[in-house]
Amino acid sequence: MRNDKEARSLPTPRPPYDFSPATKMTTKQWKLFWRVPMAHGVRTVWWRLLTQKLSTQEALRHIRTATENPGMCKICKKFIEDDYHMIYDCSLKSSFWKAANHLLGMELTGPEICQALTFEKQADDQVLIHLGDTLRALWLHHWRGIIEKYPWNNTHAMRQLRNQLWQKGENHHSDAMISQYETAKANEVYSDAVIE
Ligand SMILES: [Zn+2]
Repeated sequence: MRNDKEARSLPTPRPPYDFSPATKMTTKQWKLFWRVPMAHGVRTVWWRLLTQKLSTQEALRHIRTATENPGMCKICKKFIEDDYHMIYDCSLKSSFWKAANHLLGMELTGPEICQALTFEKQADDQVLIHLGDTLRALWLHHWRGIIEKYPWNNTHAMRQLRNQLWQKGENHHSDAMISQYETAKANEVYSDAVIE
């Protein structure tokens, strides 16, 4: 019998989360995806998820055969990084989704987040917009960490999310954070990296 760790290392989708929805999505669901107002960068990441075009370690493992443990998640270093692991299942990322969910008052469970992200379950426009914002913040923080070689940090990921929302006119900062942000901006030490 497999132990939990071995079972969880399998790179195949694990029910009830099936991150291969593009073939299952109806025309109506695709129309909804294109209709919901979101920034180009947000929609791009989400589209990559829906069409299985995420550059996961699993997807890259064939071109990185010389690397030690090709396909393994570089954040937790415990499991194969497939779409589901990259976006949600890595433990630090599921904590980030929980924190973002709380910040944005979405009150969704983990499975509900996954199902809304893949359009398996219908969510209203505002929830979709906030899920997109969260996905974008996760993506940016993920790649900054890989490129600049620093570990995932939920505080920094949440700051990324708050700053994205701030730029859209949604204020989820505490007063102390606002003054820090304003000071940083005034001193031009804050910069928003753009990673597509
Ligand atoms: Zn991981």
